[in-house]
Amino acid sequence: MIDDVLHILRVRARQGRQTVAWPDGPARLPERFRGRPALAPSMCRDGCRACAEACPTEAILDPGRPSMRLDMGRCIFCTECTEACPEEAVRFTRDFRLSAEARDRLVCAGDEPVLARALEERMRRLFGRSLRLRQVSAAGCNGCEAELNAVGNIQFDAARFGIQFVASPRHADGLVVTGPVSENMRLALLKTWEAVPAPRLVVAVGACACSGGVFRESPVQAGGLPGVPEIPVDLWIAGCPPHPITVLDGLLRLLGRLEGPGPGAAPTGVVEPGRDAARPVRAG
Ligand code: SF4
Ligand code: SF4
Repeated sequence: MIDDVLHILRVRARQGRQTVAWPDGPARLPERFRGRPALAPSMCRDGCRACAEACPTEAILDPGRPSMRLDMGRCIFCTECTEACPEEAVRFTRDFRLSAEARDRLVCAGDEPVLARALEERMRRLFGRSLRLRQVSAAGCNGCEAELNAVGNIQFDAARFGIQFVASPRHADGLVVTGPVSENMRLALLKTWEAVPAPRLVVAVGACACSGGVFRESPVQAGGLPGVPEIPVDLWIAGCPPHPITVLDGLLRLLGRLEGPGPGAAPTGVVEPGRDAARPVRAG
């Protein structure tokens, strides 16, 4: 028995700290991570629509014109557009900050960061240090749901910021919604939202919840939360699915706990595994 305990302690000591350093250190992102798009319409050929024609979700608006924009709320970050573009006018940065407090702010032009704005002061006082969320998958594919699970695991550890997922909407301060909101899930979603005591927050996670995503042409879904006007949304998080740090970044900005570019934010570059393991974590 004592040998088993000693073995466990030795393994834990060898593993060291597993939680990522972000936001006190740079975000460690996979090599193939794709973040915020950057557009350079001045490079487009006259009348070219190649990127928009390649896009499966009609995320590119006004292709080939100075007013060209890309709706991150529709984008599934597949990079079909970059491959189709002969002029490299569409590229994807490694900027993981992909959330906004208003749906239309997910539509980007040029190469400007999109940073979610904080709640008003009263709501920040209520939820800033302790936020309990209930997740509703309204017909998601399980991609967003899996990343939300990771948000709470030892690596991303949302609990260090006072953010936790709970089982009952009656114990929650808000909802996190994934999926395009299928007909079958609409009533369940509305009932769950009604069961959360006011004041309450709603966070839309992923392209499906923001726009219907790859399911947007299906007649049996609402096009995400924009199609459910009964439920007001406080935070829209782009991605298909979003990385756990993208989710945490949006939540911390909404709660007023992260401002500006973010301490140690590293939109580019990958930190070697283990290099950020011993960094201090900001107290909640
Ligand atoms: S990366 Fe986004 S904008 Fe580009 S083709 Fe895919 S869905 Fe469309
Ligand atoms: S946004 Fe993408 S990953 Fe999330 S539920 Fe929809 S299809 Fe799945």
